[in-house]
Amino acid sequence: MAKHIFVTGGVVSSLGKGITTGAVGLLLKRMGLTVRLQKLDPYLNVDPGTMNPYEHGEVYVTEDGAETDLDLGHYERFTGDYVSRDSNYTMGQIYSSVIGKERRGDYLGKTVQVVPHTTDEIKSCIHKIAQPGVDVVITEIGGTVGDIEGAPMLEAVRQFRHEVGSRNCMFIHLTLVPYIKAAGEVKTKPTQQSVGELRRIGIQPDILVVRTEVHLNDDTKKKMALYCNVDYENVIVEKDVDHSIYEVPLALVEQGMDQLINDRLSLARGKPKMTDWIDVIESIKNPEHHVKIAVVGKYIKIQDAYKSIYESLIHAGIHHKAKIEIIRIEAESLEKRGALSQLEDVHGILVPGGFGTRGTEGKIAAIQNAREKKIPYYGLCLGMQLAVIEFGRNVCGLNDATSTEFNTGCINPVIHIMPDQANVAAKGGTMRLGAYPCALKEGTKAQAAYGQKQVNERHRHRYEFNNQYREQFEQNGMTFSGLSPDGRLVEIVELASHPWFVAVQFHPEFKSTPTNPHPLFREFIGAALAYAKTGK
Ligand code: GLN
Repeated sequence: MAKHIFVTGGVVSSLGKGITTGAVGLLLKRMGLTVRLQKLDPYLNVDPGTMNPYEHGEVYVTEDGAETDLDLGHYERFTGDYVSRDSNYTMGQIYSSVIGKERRGDYLGKTVQVVPHTTDEIKSCIHKIAQPGVDVVITEIGGTVGDIEGAPMLEAVRQFRHEVGSRNCMFIHLTLVPYIKAAGEVKTKPTQQSVGELRRIGIQPDILVVRTEVHLNDDTKKKMALYCNVDYENVIVEKDVDHSIYEVPLALVEQGMDQLINDRLSLARGKPKMTDWIDVIESIKNPEHHVKIAVVGKYIKIQDAYKSIYESLIHAGIHHKAKIEIIRIEAESLEKRGALSQLEDVHGILVPGGFGTRGTEGKIAAIQNAREKKIPYYGLCLGMQLAVIEFGRNVCGLNDATSTEFNTGCINPVIHIMPDQANVAAKGGTMRLGAYPCALKEGTKAQAAYGQKQVNERHRHRYEFNNQYREQFEQNGMTFSGLSPDGRLVEIVELASHPWFVAVQFHPEFKSTPTNPHPLFREFIGAALAYAKTGK
């Protein structure tokens, strides 16, 4: 039977619970255990797929095509294992399942209530991921203890512990110890109160992970241990890391977190094997090169909107021992006269995915600049579609080339809606989602990067390259280096006449990890480094 770890958070949101959950997953995996990670989100959206990036940051797409919370990206990047749609449940999903059962008559006329029907549904989602062969399931509960909307989830995990027995189950609680500048001291009261709140609903944390900006002395730790009813050595201090979130697992090992879990759950394992992870940190701490990459997007001010892209760039930097300076450029700002000077000293330009017209002309201007000045260019999803539009307009002479996403009645729809998307009206989980195969053309940059004939990459789109224009584009110098195996769908385009101009219909940023950077990100940064050195 699988053992269970629940991760809760207190005091404030954005404590990095997802990172800690991923880091714990990594430690257990490196101890030789089979681990599954999962997040339960208390909000009522069925999934974050329809949420605005301003609200929710990036939507992370799993291999099996679920639109999920971005913390799942941390889980995959830390553990290197793929998550699935069972790794993310929202309260919206739970309620819609309960109400669906009620409509079907599954409850046989009973009054349907939060307890036990909703809590049973939540528990079944936790059991579902604990498949045979799984040693440990780590379930992160979104939100903050004390939130009204999170109460059914916490009640469900309280019951869960009761049912599987406390030997098979443990709780990790993350809190914040703020430093009050005016008083010159740290404050433990918010932590005491959030643990108090947890205990009031019947959950006693086994390990307290304390997030802090400053060093915490022994007295502070002792005080928290005493008032939160946790052993002194079970108070783990997670001080802000100096260089990278990837230092977190090492900070946890240093304080014995791996062995605390090992003992508490009787896992009978030794120390985690961390050699390659230590190499990752060394590379981050001691870069030998420096490259500037412009990311031209619509949600540039939102810290988490392009999370996986920023992380994947860092992974490629780790491979090349290069510090990546990311220059975030608001796409719309490039639409003003003279604004392209913002791109003057960058070594590579990346246009990420996106939806809708706003900012697209600015992105197209950035792409034209990259193509003409031979600056390495990397387009992802919308970044590929706009590269096609730019090439259509400025190389093939199709002045009005565009996508039917921006203009349904256009004369040259070089990008158009996919046939099976044309009649889809419902939102949420209805795009072309998840992993599909892509066959690579011999002798192309894409094929050289992957070193394989066929790959699987994750998608999230409704529009595609319009095959009516394929011949014309090819004659003008665009190479279609990746196609669906039946040859019908364009997945990768590139320019042979350019040092590195590669754009993809999929989202490679969902498949990169610090120890195994994605081949296209790796080659893009390689090209940017060459450009930085030689201007070519
Ligand atoms: N809006 C485009 C489409 O739906 C691109 C989507 C994306 O970049 N993820 O096809």
